[in-house]
Amino acid sequence: MAFRATILTLFPEMFPGPLGHSLAGRALERGDAIIETVFLRKFGVGKHRVVDDTPAGGGAGMVMRADVLANAIDAASLEGDARPRILMSPRGRPLTQARVRELADGPGAVILCGRFEGIDERVIEARGLEEVSIGDYVLSGGELGALVLLDAVIRLLPGVMGNALSGETESFETGLLEHPHYTRPAEWEGRRIPDVLTSGDHGAVERWRRAEAERITRERRPDLIAR
Ligand code: SAH
Repeated sequence: MAFRATILTLFPEMFPGPLGHSLAGRALERGDAIIETVFLRKFGVGKHRVVDDTPAGGGAGMVMRADVLANAIDAASLEGDARPRILMSPRGRPLTQARVRELADGPGAVILCGRFEGIDERVIEARGLEEVSIGDYVLSGGELGALVLLDAVIRLLPGVMGNALSGETESFETGLLEHPHYTRPAEWEGRRIPDVLTSGDHGAVERWRRAEAERITRERRPDLIAR
């Protein structure tokens, strides 16, 4: 069964965007992954299809309305829909490769993209939205976050990556950052490929890669070692 993503957004023309190319683009063409959009404006209120209003309690910006978003979510839900409902949100749990893998093993996702100051808290509770962040910085909308999440998921779907093994030794899959890579030429600007990599000794290569992965992780991301 294809991985089916339904994106709720005010900017449906942003999809599939970059995911229409390369690995993800071919997965979409084959039908291994499906990305469909729901235009939130269609669920807006009144003649002008309003989707937002001023924040209760005052302050800057606009807040997306709970009733509008709930109607869109309900319309996007399939019969017996088991897909997680995700809200892209800087307050969410930071996206990890482990969560990406879980999503790739599942039927898909319904992804709500926020805009403006954010969305009415009540719809998060009432529709059981899982808040997911792509990092500790603020985007202007959830669309790029959704594209990031989907890119990470789609490359893990069966048959998407040419060499399936390359998925398993990558950064985060082992709990470590990846070792350095080299390719021809053997010498470039006076820099040589480490001898062990051209020695033909596969055991030694494996040990070197593991040691380098540990060294780089210790230096750059001690938090990963602690985990
Ligand atoms: N006022 C909010 C930021 C709103 S940004 C705050 O201070 O937390 C507008 C929308 O962009 C959000 O609703 C969310 O959908 C999206 N967004 C912004 N930063 C994000 C991030 N780091 N990860 C995922 N989505 C993000």
